[in-house]
Amino acid sequence: MVIRLNGIVVSSSVKDNAGNITAFSKRGLQQICYAFCYFSTGSHRSHLSQSFTQQGSRMDPYKMLIGGEHRAAFSQQTLDVISPVDGMVFTTIPRGQEQDVDQAVAAARTAFNGQWKGFDALSRGRLLLKLSRAILDHQEELAQLESRDTGKPLSTARVDIKVLARYVEFYGTAADKVLGEVIPYLNDYAVQVIREPLGVTAHIIPWNYPAQIFGRSVAPALAMGNATVIKPAEDASLSILRIAGLALEVGFPAGVINVVTGLGEEAGAALSAHPGINFLSFTGSGEVGVLVQQATALNAVKCVLELGGKSAHVVFDDADTDRAAATIVKGIVHNAGQTCSAGSRVLLHESIFDVFMDKLKHEFSATCVGTPEMDLISGPVINKKQFDRVRGYIERGRELGLTVAAQGKIAQGVPAGGYYVTPTLFVGDDHRCELMQEEIFGPVLVVVPFADEADAIRLANDTDYGLVGAVWTENGGRQLRMAKAIEAGQVFVNGFGAGGGVELPFGGVKRSGHGREKGLVALEEMSTTKTIVIYHG
Ligand code: NAP
Ligand code: MG
Repeated sequence: MVIRLNGIVVSSSVKDNAGNITAFSKRGLQQICYAFCYFSTGSHRSHLSQSFTQQGSRMDPYKMLIGGEHRAAFSQQTLDVISPVDGMVFTTIPRGQEQDVDQAVAAARTAFNGQWKGFDALSRGRLLLKLSRAILDHQEELAQLESRDTGKPLSTARVDIKVLARYVEFYGTAADKVLGEVIPYLNDYAVQVIREPLGVTAHIIPWNYPAQIFGRSVAPALAMGNATVIKPAEDASLSILRIAGLALEVGFPAGVINVVTGLGEEAGAALSAHPGINFLSFTGSGEVGVLVQQATALNAVKCVLELGGKSAHVVFDDADTDRAAATIVKGIVHNAGQTCSAGSRVLLHESIFDVFMDKLKHEFSATCVGTPEMDLISGPVINKKQFDRVRGYIERGRELGLTVAAQGKIAQGVPAGGYYVTPTLFVGDDHRCELMQEEIFGPVLVVVPFADEADAIRLANDTDYGLVGAVWTENGGRQLRMAKAIEAGQVFVNGFGAGGGVELPFGGVKRSGHGREKGLVALEEMSTTKTIVIYHG
């Protein structure tokens, strides 16, 4: 049964993946009651958004945003949006394809050559600051939406939205501080180097931190005056559609931000191969990263690739072990381990192996995953594919003879159809084994011992990846030697993650990708220089 109030669909029934009613949901009925309360008392719309984004209700179908219009796909086809919390379909998104991408790129080009050109750096910055404010004003609505779409705990989603707002603020305040150069040259000449936008920038965004990565990737592009086309992951498009809608509301001209939803191999592939784009920012798997790099290369288009990692914590015998153990466990279980920069390997000095393992086991056993409303350290993984994949790695670890040192718990009462994975701590001795070498992207941590500093460096770099590293030691000389020796784009000493680190240049070496996002360097990545040489006699 579906009840519609002021255009918002409220379902009191539970449906299976085929859309058949299988049971009546208590929460669905509660939401109808809430809805009537709010309508009858005339409460603020943000309350409505909150109640309608909780589990159990079905939401109106979503539309894409192209050229300032909320639209269905050209083909009229849609994709089901499935909640990782219970495996149920709760809305749909348009299945954008080549024609939709064509229209989005054309809309971006029109905006870039037209109205958007009239916005100088200060005006673009102010618009971004307005958007940052609007995001904070809608923080609860966006967090509920993000949480519902991805299964994240509500507190995690709230932090993600704050970080998104901070990205937009950071690049808003930076927009008018990008300076050019004056170069001494021949006596009769004046030379200026100015920064210009690239044109139409494309942004392919994954499902692990959709709102945050929108901020990281799109905000610097806008600050520099580019017009953008975004392809979110099919599993996490909703917050990005809403943020793009907010941008339109605060005054971004139509066509400056376009969002094409759909499948990676359709909309994503069409966008990366489109001759009308001038830049591509891609975050996701190494396999797809290589495909999009090939596609952009055929059009001589620059791309930045952020492809994940297998980042190591190196724990020496003089480390603050309590702090290290708590940080390491939180880092790998948070967001169900679906963090490109997660520290998923621990290299542990053999002299403190047993003592530190006890602390890790203690921390790991205390972890518990559940629904967003339970608000534990983590929720489910994003989809059935990841569920099978991560559980497959845990099974493989056992087959390979690794020891399961500790496991967390899945909370009682989670819905049967959800994608909950038990956090698992392994101990091994072969650093070449699959679990030490491959990005699992789940709450799985593997520990191996090392003998001395040289051994630690060898193991830390014995990986195809190079995104982040961490060193835990109180010895100052060793801190710097290790930080310099670890092959990675970021190295933390006695810490990890640095709370979002919007200001800190981020990106990989080796198979973790190339190019940099975050910090001021992103403004350089998403713009180009022009050298103007003036003969004045
Ligand atoms: P993925 O396929 O690389 O997805 C990343 C993005 O690329 C999504 O927006 C996806 O859209 C899009 N995409 C997929 N195929 C494409 C194609 N042929 N051309 C252009 N775009 C395409 O990642 P996944 O399959 O969802 O996850 C698999 C593994 O990737 C994970 O287990 C993890 O190891 C890694 N991963 C890393 C990150 C990271 O932050 N570095 C993020 C996510 C995943 P659709 O989702 O709609 O297909
Ligand atoms: Mg989803």
